[in-house]
Amino acid sequence: AKEVGGGDKEVVREYFNNSGFQRWKKIYGETDDVNRVQRDIRMGHAKTVENVMQMLTDERPLRGVTVCDAGCGTGNLAIPLAKLGAVVSASDISAAMVAEAEKKAKEQLLVSKGDTIPVMPKFEVKDLESLIGKYDTVVCLDVLIHYPQNKADGMIAHLASLADKRLILSFAPKTFYYDLLKRVGELFPGPSKATRAYLHAEADVERALQKVGWKIRKRGLITAQFYFARLVEAVPA
Ligand code: SAM
Repeated sequence: AKEVGGGDKEVVREYFNNSGFQRWKKIYGETDDVNRVQRDIRMGHAKTVENVMQMLTDERPLRGVTVCDAGCGTGNLAIPLAKLGAVVSASDISAAMVAEAEKKAKEQLLVSKGDTIPVMPKFEVKDLESLIGKYDTVVCLDVLIHYPQNKADGMIAHLASLADKRLILSFAPKTFYYDLLKRVGELFPGPSKATRAYLHAEADVERALQKVGWKIRKRGLITAQFYFARLVEAVPA
């Protein structure tokens, strides 16, 4: 069997370009054609985005701040960031996701009113290991679930190397998810439920950050019925 998450990124890419794209586009959208589980995940994820926006606007305005949104999905974070004047680079391994994000950004940003004239995010189809450059802030939400812990360390190190000031990550914490995976397994790629989604212990993520000289400054936990996310904001130690 193919291994998901680095061992074979092809499985993830293929899923998020096809059935996964259809499923997650609905979850991350606004239409009513979602079931109870999907609606719950939509709500939980929206809370995660809201918490991240709070973290990012806490201390200073976003105008002119460079943000890399790695694994941007349909643009649910990139678009509100751009609305507040951040200079956003948004990328995803799935071309379908990037196309959808770009379409939504055009719909929402070109008509935006108010004082701030949003800068259109720069969208790219790229897996996050091949991202280069330097950004004030790097954000990567709900992507670690596709990485087993042995690949997650390298992924976290790479994201940290792109960030000057902070790195914000969300992931499915090990403590909450075990039985839930059985119920939401179809929402993840791969041949068997066991290889579809990876949970992470907060201590493991923290260790991976420490190894590359970063420390966690803020933590959040977002819980719904079918969605759990640990949110961490890390800064250079
Ligand atoms: N970050 C977005 C959000 O919170 O709205 C999307 C989260 S979605 C559950 C996971 C996304 O990660 C998918 O769009 C998928 O294509 C992307 N992804 C998975 N593995 C990736 C990788 N190695 N590099 C870049 N994107 C990846």
